[in-house]
Amino acid sequence: MAEKKRPKRDRSRELFAQARRYMPGGVSSPVRAFKAVGGEPVVIAYGLGSHVYDADGNEYIDYVGAYGPLILGHAEPLVTSTIVRAAARGTAYGATTELEVELAKLICEAVPSIELVRFVSSGTEATMSALRLARAFTGRSKVVKFEGCYHGHADGLLVQAGSGVATLGLPDSPGVPESYATETVVLPYNDLAAAEQLFEERPDEIGAVIVEPVAANMGVVTPAKGFLKALRKLTSEAGALLVFDEVITGFRLRYGGAQDVFGVQPDLTCLGKVIGGGLPVGAYGGRREVMEMVAPLGPVYQAGTLSGNPLAMAAGIATLRALQDDAAYERLEVSSIYLEDGLRRAVAEAEVPATVNRAGSLLTLFFSDRPVTDYASARRCDTKRYARFFGEMLSRGVFLTPSQFEAMFVSLAHSDDDIEETVEAARGALRAAG
Ligand SMILES: *Cc1c(COP(=O)(O)O)cnc(C)c1O
Repeated sequence: MAEKKRPKRDRSRELFAQARRYMPGGVSSPVRAFKAVGGEPVVIAYGLGSHVYDADGNEYIDYVGAYGPLILGHAEPLVTSTIVRAAARGTAYGATTELEVELAKLICEAVPSIELVRFVSSGTEATMSALRLARAFTGRSKVVKFEGCYHGHADGLLVQAGSGVATLGLPDSPGVPESYATETVVLPYNDLAAAEQLFEERPDEIGAVIVEPVAANMGVVTPAKGFLKALRKLTSEAGALLVFDEVITGFRLRYGGAQDVFGVQPDLTCLGKVIGGGLPVGAYGGRREVMEMVAPLGPVYQAGTLSGNPLAMAAGIATLRALQDDAAYERLEVSSIYLEDGLRRAVAEAEVPATVNRAGSLLTLFFSDRPVTDYASARRCDTKRYARFFGEMLSRGVFLTPSQFEAMFVSLAHSDDDIEETVEAARGALRAAG
């Protein structure tokens, strides 16, 4: 196949230079700056279905999907028309709305472990608030998180582990007080023995265990068999709360989320991304007895001017309605398997050491010759090769997430043709990236 000509990106370059003048790094969220892959970020002008278009008019098959929310694709007509109708009625009131009631009902019916739900404006707010609540409910301050899991940028959660068992957290970012970070205990993902040891040694100190039931922020890493069930058992026995961060997996792996897939009921669940249909949203919910501690019913304060925003609620409702059809998840699964198989074949042909991890419509092509099962094995990947691969894919019209440690997001808008084109591009990109 003839290699495509490098697309022109003059307008993107010009706009991004301006962006840098007014915003740190030219972005509103760091990964968008392409630092992990190098090169000039593309400036996006619009998106439609499975494609995005940059400021120079170049077209890309999009697997960023806004990092998770766009399970139906860009500018899905039902979602946009619902947002427009809602906007015409006013964009915020500071009072309960029918739309909020409707989305809350949809969520509680879809996710049986959620008996009461509180809307916030981002996933970060959801996890931060859920942990405040868990600490209040248990009267214990320590929180366990797993290495490589991302739970938003709240202080206590920006903690990375050193290797080893039950490492006491050190802040991952300047500005996070050490005293804060030490309230977070970091364990290796999928290391059940480490979790058991911690609970054996300090059963009365742990207020909550927070986990991505399928990790998608170190690249996609699925839970080892029995890992989530064991966490459920450990936390129940110790009187700690189990918090599932389903900000990515909620309504993506299945309508009932990862907890439905794995048959494990957490005490609290954090949601975001898909439930906002592409608008800013987050939510946390769970057992009635726990959620009743949230103000105004209880003493745990948490509030938000734009929480439950009617536009976000409308977009979320339209999105969830579209997902109520079982065929939606079957279609996503079929497309994603098709992509996974194609990538595996391309990797085998190119004789590149790489492995594909997939959970539903979340995929990562890891440049490693070994299975990726936790943060340590993810970190062993050849990130330089990923960077080259990313650049080669971009110039072939495929927009991947600009880091080895992110997922590819397949949407219902991706057609078989899109996926065939993607696999063809991957063949060329793997050859060119070496
Ligand atoms: C994206 C994400 C968050 C943070 O959500 P924001 O809306 O970006 O604040 C939290 N947890 C997980 C698992 C995520 O993927």
